[in-house]
Amino acid sequence: MSSLSLLEEKIKSAEKIAVFSHINPDGDALGSTIAVKNILKKHYGKDSDAVVIGKYPDIYDFMPLKNELIMAPDFNNDTVYDLVITVDVASLERISQVEKAYNNSKFKVNIDHHKTNINYGDLNFVDGDASSTGEILYQIFDDLKITIDEDTAIALYASILTDTGCFKYKNTTEQSMIICSKLLAKGVDPSDISQRIYGNKPKPMVMLTAWAVSNAKFLNNDKLVYATVSVKDLEKFNAEPDHTEGIVEALREISSVKVAILFKELKYGDTKISMRSKDIDIAKICEKFGGGGHTNAAGCTIKKPLKIAVDKILEEFKDIK
Ligand code: AMP
Ligand code: MN
Ligand code: MN
Repeated sequence: MSSLSLLEEKIKSAEKIAVFSHINPDGDALGSTIAVKNILKKHYGKDSDAVVIGKYPDIYDFMPLKNELIMAPDFNNDTVYDLVITVDVASLERISQVEKAYNNSKFKVNIDHHKTNINYGDLNFVDGDASSTGEILYQIFDDLKITIDEDTAIALYASILTDTGCFKYKNTTEQSMIICSKLLAKGVDPSDISQRIYGNKPKPMVMLTAWAVSNAKFLNNDKLVYATVSVKDLEKFNAEPDHTEGIVEALREISSVKVAILFKELKYGDTKISMRSKDIDIAKICEKFGGGGHTNAAGCTIKKPLKIAVDKILEEFKDIK
């Protein structure tokens, strides 16, 4: 039986279905979660528990079905699901908050585009060359001859738009563009979505970004740059943890920079690291610290205070040329 037939069979026979994506979801995680939930309902007539772990970012308030998602603190971890579909989850550590429900589930489908994904599901749709999980989902829906309505189209477009950095990154392919053109034909307004995601930022987010960029530290002839944001810094700007999104991308835009890093202090003292690069494979480095990602965009969390995490990571780049 082909993977697609097995997927359909599992959906059709399942009574309880969950959709999980990674903690503190980005546009791809949310878009993929929403697209799957919508298709399960509209095409298969199935309700599902689509769970948001961590903070739902303000800038995605406009996403379809937002009010039908379950926010993680309200989620019952003891539920036994017939089927769990994970989307955009590079490794299971990224959904550890729902670990119990995941482990108790009877069948696990893993849909993802991180090249560090180890195919942890019972059924895996993993393509490290896809721009986004949304792009893989489009292909699956298309192969299964599933009708894509406007809500699904908006969700998938948000996935591809955000994970390609507005079609700027190397993962932008002919295929990504073809898919987006088809999504436009389903009613997506690209200018409206870009405005909602990138032109609608809370003031503290822009102020925090400006401050973090102007306080960044440069090393190795400006080839390496890093910024740090502590919990106190967030408080100073009245900013939320997800308001750091965009800082590391801004630093990578500097012409001399080969690697840009953001170190973010988490509430309980651990440090979340976001890296962006040109050419250098940073997924490998993040993997060493239990994280992962893509060649030019990767991340990890180090269970150490900010200063120690900075030293540990900078050590990895001391020979950067
Ligand atoms: P971020 O810097 O959080 O935007 O993440 C950049 C890329 O690396 C995204 O594709 C993430 O999914 C991935 N990533 C971030 N943190 C981790 C982690 N702890 N484990 C695996 N992949 C990660
Ligand atoms: Mn993601
Ligand atoms: Mn993604």
